[in-house]
Amino acid sequence: MKVAVFSAKPYDREYLHAANVAEGHQLDFFDVPLDTDTVGLAAGHGAVCIFVNDVADAAVLNELRAGGTSLVALRCTGFNNVDLGAAASLGMKVVRVVTYSPNSVAEHAVALLLAVNRKIHRAYNRTRDFNFSLDGLMGFDFCGKTVAVVGTGKIGRVFARIMLGFGCEVIGYDAFPTPEFEALGGRYAQPGEIGASADIISLHCPLTPQTYHIIDADALARAKPGALLVNTSRGGLLDTEAAIDALQNRQLGGLALDVYEQEADLFFRDLSSTIVADDVMQRLVSFPNVIVTGHQAFLTREAVSTICQTTLRSVTEFESGLALTNEIKA
Ligand code: NAD
Repeated sequence: MKVAVFSAKPYDREYLHAANVAEGHQLDFFDVPLDTDTVGLAAGHGAVCIFVNDVADAAVLNELRAGGTSLVALRCTGFNNVDLGAAASLGMKVVRVVTYSPNSVAEHAVALLLAVNRKIHRAYNRTRDFNFSLDGLMGFDFCGKTVAVVGTGKIGRVFARIMLGFGCEVIGYDAFPTPEFEALGGRYAQPGEIGASADIISLHCPLTPQTYHIIDADALARAKPGALLVNTSRGGLLDTEAAIDALQNRQLGGLALDVYEQEADLFFRDLSSTIVADDVMQRLVSFPNVIVTGHQAFLTREAVSTICQTTLRSVTEFESGLALTNEIKA
């Protein structure tokens, strides 16, 4: 099947080519993201393969359908960027990668937390300049602290397991609690408990209308003073401007982000030689207790390999008229 791959990075090409040996599709790679300006590139392709910041809203899906596309294959887990209702009404199928390596994201969340707590980013810069002063690098022990996991799904549970290994008490919040979280040694929080007792809050729920700005000014005001917040899920879960206020008034002790509300305009490209017009990001990165990575939590060999294999397997299932293992329905 002809597949138009949007937002294609070198690692996408390498791992999709490797996975395609078993599937035999025609892959056409486009560096640009899918949106209303670029959708014409997909004409004549039965499937498009897209990533987190590609746009598959009703307008784009309409044009895709008119150009002969009937499958949207997301090479990621989240699908907040696809209008599933519009896809269904156009008779288009949507597939995603339900699970690849929850370890990749959970481990990255832990890496960010350790870095922001122990000021590794600052120490790295200092020691490269032969500045071995320890002033301002004080952190706290994770052992014995309370960690809140918001979204106790696949990634949240791996994260919980790692933090339990540090000797933390792990409390959870989920719209659909699961005994698997409790079996690990976590327990679901009482109302108000996360704000009152969590030293660390980590976000692992999907971005939906219900979870948009789940961490807003009110939630931050209720948080334990000095708490660390890490978001490796989706930028829209956090009201970034409210987080900046909470950092400024010292309510938030540190912030670690792999995702950002306005990331579509910034992430996955080198803007180091340009003047970036995003004032919110400019303010964020100016804080010594903020660390940002550019949506790289998934980027391990194991995860990307599985993502590419699963995505192309889904295309093969679709082409062969088989049941779609990873279909998402409206
Ligand atoms: P999952 O479906 O296994 O878990 C999500 C959990 O969130 C579920 O337990 C679900 O019940 C819960 N949830 C749903 N609505 C909720 C609500 N309103 N309030 C509280 N909890 C709610 O998904 P997962 O594989 O663990 O992935 C979680 C998220 O991680 C994805 O949705 C995606 O946004 C993000 N992600 C990020 C990266 C990255 O590279 N940064 C990579 C993969 C996934």
